[in-house]
Amino acid sequence: MPELPEVETIRRGLANKIVGKTIEKIKIRCKRIVLLPPPREWSSALRNQNIKHISRRGKFLLLSTIDYQLLVHLGMTGQLTYWNKDKHNDKKFFIDPLTGLQKAQQHAVDKHTHISLYFSDGNALHYRDIRQFGKWRLYLVADFKNANEYWNLGMEPLTSQYRWTHFYEKLKKRNTKIKSLLLNQQFVAGLGNIYTDEALFEAGVRPVRRTISLSKIEKTRLFEAIPKVLERGLKYGGTSFQNYLNVNGETGNNQEHLRVYGRSGKTCWQCQEQIIRILVCQRSSHFCPHCQR
Ligand SMILES: [Zn+2]
Repeated sequence: MPELPEVETIRRGLANKIVGKTIEKIKIRCKRIVLLPPPREWSSALRNQNIKHISRRGKFLLLSTIDYQLLVHLGMTGQLTYWNKDKHNDKKFFIDPLTGLQKAQQHAVDKHTHISLYFSDGNALHYRDIRQFGKWRLYLVADFKNANEYWNLGMEPLTSQYRWTHFYEKLKKRNTKIKSLLLNQQFVAGLGNIYTDEALFEAGVRPVRRTISLSKIEKTRLFEAIPKVLERGLKYGGTSFQNYLNVNGETGNNQEHLRVYGRSGKTCWQCQEQIIRILVCQRSSHFCPHCQR
């Protein structure tokens, strides 16, 4: 699933490409992705809307026009790629082993391309989502205050909103496994399975530990580890384990830099012990039994 570094990489790519463009036509091929309003209302709503701004909160992208807020969640396998009319389509047929894409870049609409935004300058933005867990919601600006899925999000890491006192107070009130708390978007926004495992490794804390058992030093290390692993993910353009792509259709490189996630049976970079994979709250979790206590 695209997490904060992946969604932020997509946001930066989109900001360069579609801010200022006018939507001429929208095509919805899979209705289950579009939560509100009903799909038939989308085309008339978005026609001639100019994209003014693109922001991100947690794993959500927010495309703002004068009249609307378009809130996009990429679910498990969502890909947003930009189609440039001036670039030639890569006709060479291949299946990328990481992403399943059938064309190198500039991939054509295929059976997984569920939404397309066509711009007045002839370029387009395609949304492809194999598992179809993505969620697109369109709000009138005046109704955006009702977007609970957005307003209920917790602290935003990598901003001044992310503060130790706040983190510590919120952590103190919970009695749950730390892995499950970190995945809760109302605690800290933007973490998923990959970056929670990586943050817990950096902090030297096992995913099964209960929050009440953590010492103040462990809590401090965890508070510092979260932005550290997210910054690293951003620096390498996101983690492409399965489907993640940036807006140019390229994979990220952070999978080469992961310490524990996806490395069960392999050697820990820090101590040469074997990384273990276990299930915590139905989610697979990877950790080093020597470096994490
Ligand atoms: Zn280790």
